[in-house]
Amino acid sequence: MVKTVIIGSNHAGIAAANTLLDHYPDQQVVMIDKSNSLSYLGCGSPLWVGRQIDSYETLFYTNKEAFEEKGAAIHMETSVVAVDFDKKIVSCCRVNGETFEETYDNLVLATGSKPINLNLPGNDYAGIHCLKTFEDCMVVDEELDDPMVQNVAVVGAGYIGVEMAEAIKRRGKNVLLFDIESQVLSAYYDAWLSEDMSNTLSENGVELHLNEKVMSYQKNDVMDVFLRCIEELVQEIKVNPDTQIAKNKMTSLDNKVSGIVTDKGEYPVDLVVNALGFIPNVDLGQGRLTLSKEKAYLVDEHQRTNLADVYAIGDCATIYSNALNEVTHIALATNAVRSGIVAGHSIGGSELKSLGVQGSNGISIFGQNMVSTGISYEKAKTLGFKVAVTDFEDLQKPSFMKDNEQVKLRIVYDQVSRRVLGAQMSSKGDMSMGIHMFSLAIAKQVTVDELALLDIFFLPHFNQPYNYITMAALSAN
Ligand SMILES: Cc1cc2nc3c(=O)[nH]c(=O)nc-3n(C[C@H](O)[C@H](O)[C@H](O)COP(=O)(O)OP(=O)(O)OC[C@H]3O[C@@H](n4cnc5c(N)ncnc54)[C@H](O)[C@@H]3O)c2cc1C
Repeated sequence: MVKTVIIGSNHAGIAAANTLLDHYPDQQVVMIDKSNSLSYLGCGSPLWVGRQIDSYETLFYTNKEAFEEKGAAIHMETSVVAVDFDKKIVSCCRVNGETFEETYDNLVLATGSKPINLNLPGNDYAGIHCLKTFEDCMVVDEELDDPMVQNVAVVGAGYIGVEMAEAIKRRGKNVLLFDIESQVLSAYYDAWLSEDMSNTLSENGVELHLNEKVMSYQKNDVMDVFLRCIEELVQEIKVNPDTQIAKNKMTSLDNKVSGIVTDKGEYPVDLVVNALGFIPNVDLGQGRLTLSKEKAYLVDEHQRTNLADVYAIGDCATIYSNALNEVTHIALATNAVRSGIVAGHSIGGSELKSLGVQGSNGISIFGQNMVSTGISYEKAKTLGFKVAVTDFEDLQKPSFMKDNEQVKLRIVYDQVSRRVLGAQMSSKGDMSMGIHMFSLAIAKQVTVDELALLDIFFLPHFNQPYNYITMAALSAN
């Protein structure tokens, strides 16, 4: 038997384990994760917090038992504290302090990513949270139940920030959404598209603070704490007449965030959710494994690192971008799963190659749907591409059709080669499936002129005879 140890059992680790267990009977698989659950779908956090779904329990798609049934050994609540890459030994520590070692023939690092922490003054006050794990989601969720929490700051208007702004608004709180950039979702959309999302957020009561840099956090002053403590105490003592309550209450409120300070002003807030993005978790390979410029494990098309028999997958590893034509880092569950499959087959002996990615993504907020793939015009310019765009806006279906919404489409293309570099779409209707075609176009280096002549069907239920994809492509200069 060949023994593969997989460190990290979320989307990437699970995909690698399933591939090995389902296709290669000669493989012995050992899975290790410090968490007490596996397969948590982070995308469900905002949906649960906003009560758009009925239960958080359905946010897990597999469990420990499923892997044990397939013959894997799985250690949950167990941290890998060190790897001896020369002796091929992994040192582990269980949550109860017990330590043990695992030897390996192949090692798969699937340790994911960590939330970016700006370490601003006041960062350690109670009531300031990041959102990465299921536990993070539960803490924020519980604090939102507190009727004293009325004003919530969300810092970072990327995907998670925007989704959490919606979720917290749906819980009836005042939401202030901060971003240093001049637009929301700036990593994926140009301003022409992202203004749809800003308008939607504003129309639904989210207070936008763009072009605004968060500098520090404030906490309650002593008198505020005292008065609020008395107020809460009166309520609680009715239920539980325990003298310790007053002391606990004073302590918990004393260190609690009460405000956020930016380069433009100061705002009273009772809770802060930081959503500033993620960095690869490469702690275990420091000093031995080659890192990319984004500080992710640098891997080849088989997910191999620079060390023989050591693979890296998911958020901790690099990925090849077909839009940029270079290695980059894109933290998405979709990439994690695909990279896990590639590593599993490579270890098993099938030598499957990664096809690279386009970074396709989508978001749906208060009924505003946006999807994009590849790179935006602004990003392409920053990266030095000689780039152009072609835009088209129209009703999705012929005007005689009911349930008909405007669709905006932007195609980003290289002015010299004319290959498609990116596409962005926005609508209150569902046009999401169209983006997959653009993803393939980027992967296959299709030009904008080829798109103009592409065979696209017409049916009034779905699109117009002069559909927006053809029209945008035809309009390219
Ligand atoms: C709120 C939120 C919403 C998201 N929405 C989407 C979405 O809509 N679409 C999308 O594609 N992606 C989304 N993502 C991103 C997606 O969740 C990540 O890209 C994905 O989880 C990466 O999977 P992974 O397995 O590589 O890493 P992770 O999910 O980070 O898992 C890493 C695992 O490694 C374990 N681990 C780390 N270090 C050790 C150690 N030393 N010892 C033992 N175990 C260790 C951790 O406990 C963890 O279980 C979202 C993320 C969040 C937080």
